[in-house]
Amino acid sequence: MDSSSSCVPPQGVPELWFADADVVFHAGGKIFRVHRGILSARSPKTAVTRINLPDDATDVYHLFLAIFDAGYFESPLSKYPISVIISILRLAHKYDVAFLKRRVVTHLNQLFPTEWTDFSDLMSSKIHKFQEGEEHEIFPLLALGETTGIQWILPAVNLRLLFLPLSVLFQLETWNALDTSQKQKYLVNREECIENLVHCGNWLWSPSRESCLSVPQCTARFRFLRAGGSWKLRPTGPMCCLCDACKQHMREKALESGQQFWGDVPLYINLDDWNTLRDAKDRFSKMFIASAVAPSPP
Ligand SMILES: [Zn+2]
Repeated sequence: MDSSSSCVPPQGVPELWFADADVVFHAGGKIFRVHRGILSARSPKTAVTRINLPDDATDVYHLFLAIFDAGYFESPLSKYPISVIISILRLAHKYDVAFLKRRVVTHLNQLFPTEWTDFSDLMSSKIHKFQEGEEHEIFPLLALGETTGIQWILPAVNLRLLFLPLSVLFQLETWNALDTSQKQKYLVNREECIENLVHCGNWLWSPSRESCLSVPQCTARFRFLRAGGSWKLRPTGPMCCLCDACKQHMREKALESGQQFWGDVPLYINLDDWNTLRDAKDRFSKMFIASAVAPSPP
């Protein structure tokens, strides 16, 4: 937001204040003095001497650091908070900073994959797992996935939000920042996902347990599992009290039913089918192969 009318004088950001630079940007009460040449090389829309940006100062901060500090935002071998990735996506797309958008998307492709096996691995491994509460930060992607043309991440974005209780969701700043139509769309899609997830999980009600090693114990545990929900997508989680034969059975059935559910998630949330989404993802990657090399700062 542009706060140029505020009584508080804007503050320079020390790590983005180059005394010999020739352009000053002002966004949300912060000012950044940077080299026009670098920005011009990357973004034709920002080649002006002095400009008030209408953007959030935090977004501008992350974007400029990603441009001016080569080590600030690297490939997915390095990990970054999802809020930083989203800030950079928002402005790299808006100002057409192609090399940064490409890098952001490689991060997002890892966090929100298009294959069930990758998503299942993601949910049951510690690699790429979000920090506690980081799921709360991904709501902006519901809209950004559409507006920045990377819809293929949206099925996984929706599923990663699926187990967030509504009572928590309604308190979140990121949720309240969505506009009414986005909220309505999300809630309708969520209901559709949950309803279909329940159908895909029906197998639990009649497990085949001919080889079960401890019927009383496993029966009791199955009853307990029925009350749960997230186990349907996280087959390694809650099975510690089952015998080995039942664990194996559950794992196979969970993967199979998860695959079945995953196959139709794009339809549940009103997107094109997986083939179309995966084609778009491939096209995006190929488009940047030739233009992946970024110019260096002076
Ligand atoms: Zn058993």
